[in-house]
Amino acid sequence: MNDIISLFCERQKIWLKIPPAILKRKVLMMVEKSIKRRLELEKLMGIESFIPAPDPDRAEPAEKDSTVGGKLARIKDEVMSCTKCKLHTTRIQGVFSRGCPCAELMIIGEAPGADEDKEGKPFVGRAGKLLDKMLLAIGLDENDVYITNIIKSRPPQNRDPQSDEIRACRPYLERQIELIKPNKIVTLGLPASNTLLENSMPMGDMRGRWFSYKGIHVLPIYHPAYLLRSPGKKTIVWEDLKKLL
Ligand code: URA
Repeated sequence: MNDIISLFCERQKIWLKIPPAILKRKVLMMVEKSIKRRLELEKLMGIESFIPAPDPDRAEPAEKDSTVGGKLARIKDEVMSCTKCKLHTTRIQGVFSRGCPCAELMIIGEAPGADEDKEGKPFVGRAGKLLDKMLLAIGLDENDVYITNIIKSRPPQNRDPQSDEIRACRPYLERQIELIKPNKIVTLGLPASNTLLENSMPMGDMRGRWFSYKGIHVLPIYHPAYLLRSPGKKTIVWEDLKKLL
């Protein structure tokens, strides 16, 4: 256990220092959570622990799979072949999600960039690496969160998503939230926060404050891409992230 704590402490130094007492509690929470998540994930996927996996030839066809995983897979298929807005003409592929469908915390970003468009997963570029460090600083990793964007296709040259694109894509996000049923949502940056909360408040007024989306607590914070450009704002984000502890 001491080795794990030392490794964890080392990693924390990469982003911001955390007091050892909080770290120790976080490590224990992480172990407990990852076991709980694993069991919840197995349940969501219809896997009974200690019972052999079903024969794939006799498994339910994908279109009849009524588990959360099955329903999400069908939404992902729709996203992959979606032509509801012009972005499908310039993207390489749709970018749906990463993380665990059993997560209690959902993270919503803006739109895929070039790296995400290539890999087909959200937040895998520089901003994504920083997001992972931010999550690690509060004791969370990819298994504890479900990460997606308001827009599932890359806007050309990473321009801001346009309102018709946001409108076309929003139902996918709403269906994801309905299935994941997170306890809390963190929105990253202005477009994601304004879109989910359907307001036009400036980021400075929203960050670090709790809002509600259909009864789910929503915490807007600065986008990691903004933090890469303005590292001085990391202290503010750390204060905001502590609200999730
Ligand atoms: N920025 C986002 O908002 N989303 C991504 O997936 C990557 C960068």
